[in-house]
Amino acid sequence: MRHINSLTNPTVKSLRALHERKYRRQSGLFLAEGMRIVMEAVDLGWSPKHLAFLDGRQDDPLVGRLIKAADAADAECLAVSHDVLAKISHKDNPQAVVASFAETWHGFDQVITSNGVWVALDRVRDPGNLGTIMRSVDAAGGEGVILIGDCTDGFSVEAVRASMGACFNLKLVEISEDAFLEALPSWNGRLIGTSLAASVDYRQADWAAPLIIMMGNEQAGLTDALTAAAKQLIRMPMLGRSDSLNLAVATGIALYEYVRHEHPDKA
Ligand code: SAM
Repeated sequence: MRHINSLTNPTVKSLRALHERKYRRQSGLFLAEGMRIVMEAVDLGWSPKHLAFLDGRQDDPLVGRLIKAADAADAECLAVSHDVLAKISHKDNPQAVVASFAETWHGFDQVITSNGVWVALDRVRDPGNLGTIMRSVDAAGGEGVILIGDCTDGFSVEAVRASMGACFNLKLVEISEDAFLEALPSWNGRLIGTSLAASVDYRQADWAAPLIIMMGNEQAGLTDALTAAAKQLIRMPMLGRSDSLNLAVATGIALYEYVRHEHPDKA
């Protein structure tokens, strides 16, 4: 274990750099903050590469568990000052624990061979939406999230934070729109698209798994090509003056309609 007070320490700088996508891609690492989220990752079998915690907390039993897991994974263990944690976290009031993990991306073959439910997001831009959706997919017992086209990063600090650790229990797939459309004929399950222009009420759809629920970009909705690829196109009724639901809210409603159909004993 190393004790670090210096804000210019190279490891501190490299952990701080993980707030930027460019450095995450270069290093293959991402950051998770907070005892609960880091513990969730470790409990699910993820191995930390770095573990930084507030110096003096070594005797806390939970921090002790994380140090043990970090040692077992040969991770760098850093007992750091409050200011160093604040620098790594970009926050004045940082969490007492920050860890880095290796980004794990899955191929579309994982979707093809799965019997569960996936959410496919077309060019999702907001990391808060993405994290919230990951949390909902996990809550609904889903397999993972397919990021189609130019999406916000599933391993950004904001997305990981908003997922409340659900990202560690899901598979993340990145794919271009062309590759997704090319791979679809190999998919034996259902593909439900969601659109404000659809005429079918979401309660009328066939929600049986294996299933991909496809959601559109926050501003533009689904592209024409993705809309055309959806075997079923559904909408949620809008009764007031708002013209659409928030993307993450619409995804949650769709996922729980799936739960109601496929897991009636739990719904
Ligand atoms: N202006 C966009 C449009 O015309 O599609 C609004 C996009 S909406 C904020 C983001 C995504 O959430 C939509 O593409 C769709 O997937 C889903 N969504 C939101 N409200 C919905 C509704 N009432 N019915 C079906 N899907 C909805």
